Amino acid sequence: ESLTVAELAKKLNREPSEIIKKLFLLGVVATINQQLDKDAIELIASEYGVKVEEEVVIDQTDLETYFTEDREEDLEVRPPVVTIMGHVDHGKTTTLDSIRHTKVTAGEAGGITQHIGAYQVKIDGKKITFLDTPGHEAFTTMRARGAQVTDITVLVVAADDGVKPQTVEAINHAKAADVPIIVAVNKIDKPTANPERVMQELTEYGLIPEDWGGDTIYVPISALTGEGIDNLLEMILLVSEVEELKANPNRRALGSVIEARLDKGRGPVATLLVQNGTLHVGDPIVVGHTYGRVRAMVNDLGRRVKEAGPSTPVEITGLNDVPEAGDRFVVFEDEKTARQIGEARKQQAVQAHRNETARISLDTLFEQLKQGEMKELNVIVKADVQGSVEALTAALQKIDVEGVNIKVIHTGVGAITESDVALASASNAIIIGFNVRPDANAKRAAETEKVDIRLHRIIYKAIEEIESAMKGMLDPEY
Ligand code: GDP
Repeated sequence: ESLTVAELAKKLNREPSEIIKKLFLLGVVATINQQLDKDAIELIASEYGVKVEEEVVIDQTDLETYFTEDREEDLEVRPPVVTIMGHVDHGKTTTLDSIRHTKVTAGEAGGITQHIGAYQVKIDGKKITFLDTPGHEAFTTMRARGAQVTDITVLVVAADDGVKPQTVEAINHAKAADVPIIVAVNKIDKPTANPERVMQELTEYGLIPEDWGGDTIYVPISALTGEGIDNLLEMILLVSEVEELKANPNRRALGSVIEARLDKGRGPVATLLVQNGTLHVGDPIVVGHTYGRVRAMVNDLGRRVKEAGPSTPVEITGLNDVPEAGDRFVVFEDEKTARQIGEARKQQAVQAHRNETARISLDTLFEQLKQGEMKELNVIVKADVQGSVEALTAALQKIDVEGVNIKVIHTGVGAITESDVALASASNAIIIGFNVRPDANAKRAAETEKVDIRLHRIIYKAIEEIESAMKGMLDPEY
């Protein structure tokens, strides 16, 4: 069996660059698409404490295995997929509406916009796709299910209100997903607007404006009057160019579910975002744990279409059941394979539900550290007052256990919320609550998502617990 560097990296859950570096240190100069022989594979695998099974069997039912890389020469530029985030009432919905109105109705005469969970606009012949469920909950729920669909985040901050808790949450969610942020300073039409203050406040979170020597793009807008919207769209295209977003339109389609529901007349209906390849009417498809053949496709203007290329959202019918937002989809060559894989996945899901897969928890932390599966422990800190948040964060960062880093990915004052749990689940983090508790929704979500929440009233106890877990001393066996 041989694997390319990229394939091996994927199996080991590492970046290809890391594998290349390791190979280099072992005296092998390799590129990302280079085939590695058995010896090299074993050598690298052993570096990560992984044993190579004689035959590397590719799990056909794992849809992720179909998300393979394309050859450079097959790639073409694709539109960016943008999510709008920000604090409640700062103007996310108005911004989405404003963009849609100015661009869609002007360009596409006769189009009746239809809510399918995402829409596309065209600026000077270039397209941008917007997910039109604003807010970071949708973003993070998708990510928790394995779907990374957002290329760029537009952070909307009201110029008359400044940085608020959900602004900070949005920043942390975007950072955790490694998605670039453009700041839209909204409501500049208001006499009380103070864009400078927004910029000032956001520098504390590392979003330093270009004018001040940083690399964050700020665009002043008024979603209400439409001022600055064109500029915002141009900036999105600019960032998109820098990111070099590409896909191969000439392969079988794959991507993610944006939303799905059961329609009385049409049966299961799902909005799919094509992330690679081109989707056609008639394609045999597996979507999450459902399958079928694409019967009809409708775009965001309510028009029937026959095909949909990379970054295009389309609503499809023809599935045997309703998938979930964030599910992956893959098109297969023939209906028989699609049906087999779809049914096998359904079985597995039922089984997995029984076995309840475990996420990161302090109880199993040491085991995972020992097996070399983890080098970093992600932590979310919530406390009753800002002082405690800071004290606890500082103390956590001082913990020094060999080979493991603690990374505080989000902090906040107040009860542990569902959004905290979603972020923890998506980032495989644990949550530490200091003098706060999870609210009812968060509690329920933590149970289903298997997120470990630790509550404390004394800082050194919290630190002690983490430290012991890292050293394997929570478990009585050690
Ligand atoms: P969301 O909760 O972030 O989606 O915020 P909305 O888009 O619902 O906006 C909240 C309120 O702010 C609404 O009453 C909007 O009309 C208003 N609003 C949004 N953008 C602007 C703006 O640019 N200028 C002014 N003056 N009001 C705005």
